[in-house]
Amino acid sequence: MPLFTTNAIVTRSLNYGESDKIITFFTKDFGKLKGIAKGARRSRKRFQNALGLFSHLRLVFFDKEGLGLVRAEGCDILHSFPKIKEDLKKIVCGNYYLELVNEMAGEREANQEAFEVLLSCLSNLEEANLQEEQLRIFEIRMLSLFGYRPNMKRCNLCKRDWEDLKEIPAVFFSLERGALICEPCSKMRNNLIPLSLGTARLIEKISQTELCKVERLRFTPQALSESRELLPKFISYQLGKELKSLKAIKDIEWRFRFEARAEHPAGINPNFETSANFQNTNDPNK
Ligand SMILES: [Zn+2]
Repeated sequence: MPLFTTNAIVTRSLNYGESDKIITFFTKDFGKLKGIAKGARRSRKRFQNALGLFSHLRLVFFDKEGLGLVRAEGCDILHSFPKIKEDLKKIVCGNYYLELVNEMAGEREANQEAFEVLLSCLSNLEEANLQEEQLRIFEIRMLSLFGYRPNMKRCNLCKRDWEDLKEIPAVFFSLERGALICEPCSKMRNNLIPLSLGTARLIEKISQTELCKVERLRFTPQALSESRELLPKFISYQLGKELKSLKAIKDIEWRFRFEARAEHPAGINPNFETSANFQNTNDPNK
């Protein structure tokens, strides 16, 4: 049976039977892989408790026929993102990253850039203070990398570009077309979300700028609020369902917390930690 090695991030982890685990990995060289780790709950030696969510690993696995479950043989942990796991807000956000990749990635379709972006965004989530912009940038980059890049450059129907669109009273984003539509072209069309040209340009820029330079781009409050309205809806539309972790973000009144940032410079919303509605749907310790 052929033996392979690749870098991987654990995106799902379920206990299976008495001692095994079923793991979904997003790997650098093979894309999404589902695997069984036999004895993972007993053998500390082979898996070193490394199969929790977010873990970045050097994974060794057997692949019998190039389909179905691979067999995880062992792993070296490269980084386990402990600072994400000790912060509920970061867990919710990180779960959203993992679920989004899980849903968008095809099995065994390598996407090295998406792997690097996920890794970089998890590192950023771990090290930096949490800001809503991080979520929005992640969404935009992943949409692009998995082939759903929003077309923001011109009206998708009449082809007016940004210069000409300045003369038009309003523009929209069409969920169906994944593209900008100007007001005159919008009649009798459904699934439109109002958008300013400034936000359209920012999303376009984030789609095409190198990741290391993206953080220099600034969201205005309007761009932040419009992209918050638009991006999760577009993702749900493309995937045909709402992500569970997105519901968790809404449940904890995430937005209020982000918006409270200015009034609470330390980032503390006194009501947040005790929110009774909070349910972590993807607890890394389970
Ligand atoms: Zn038009």
